[in-house]
Amino acid sequence: MRKKIIAGNWKMNMTPSKAAAFLNENKAACESDTADVVFCVPAVDIIPAVEAVKGTGIEIGAENLYFQDKGAYTGEIAADMLVDAGVKYVIIGHSERREYFAETDETVNKKVLKAFEYGLTPIICCGETLTQREQGITIDWVRMQIKIAFLNVTAEQAKKAVIAYEPIWAIGTGVVATTEQAEEVCTAIRKCIGEIYDAETADAIRIQYGGSVSAASAPELFAQPDIDGGLVGGASLKPDFAKIVHYDEQ
Ligand code: PEP
Repeated sequence: MRKKIIAGNWKMNMTPSKAAAFLNENKAACESDTADVVFCVPAVDIIPAVEAVKGTGIEIGAENLYFQDKGAYTGEIAADMLVDAGVKYVIIGHSERREYFAETDETVNKKVLKAFEYGLTPIICCGETLTQREQGITIDWVRMQIKIAFLNVTAEQAKKAVIAYEPIWAIGTGVVATTEQAEEVCTAIRKCIGEIYDAETADAIRIQYGGSVSAASAPELFAQPDIDGGLVGGASLKPDFAKIVHYDEQ
């Protein structure tokens, strides 16, 4: 039985002092016995966020990392810096990073390998544009993203990974994928992982849905057999995130 994982993605929001205040006010409501709860926060928020959630079951994640260990890469953040700061998860290949910062499937793969090398759990994002969905190539596209992201990743590592299926047309738009659309792609991703590895790995890996998830849409989405929780943007900046974490108690 896979444990659900509900992760917030704050994107470029919240100053360090606001991050600490938000977590201190909302951490009790966001704790869960049944799901892993993660806040992925801007780099400068990591240290105050880790401090704020100390003693709770909540973990802090990063929104990115670089695939080199150290050196002349101005502005980048290395895996060991994240680990030393107390980070456990890292989002890799979010569609905003692919669109605005030229991330490719190949750099995503390098970052996934680097995350595993340092014991970080990657939350690997994939998903299609509206045009790709309309052209009927969603599953082919997402399968390609997954196959490249997992190149040279071992089955033992893959079992610990988290994949976030995020249709780009649903991110930040208020348009949520239907339960059927989300489950169809998450099932296809699990099948793809089964083909790359084996049934045991496919059964172990956790696959989230992301894209305008709200307290209203979470219960039905997260009840699907192949959807193991969500990656939540806008709604993770509000106290309502606690309702998403406790989607099964509404
Ligand atoms: C995201 O940033 O990954 C996301 C899904 O955003 P939102 O929930 O705001 O659509």
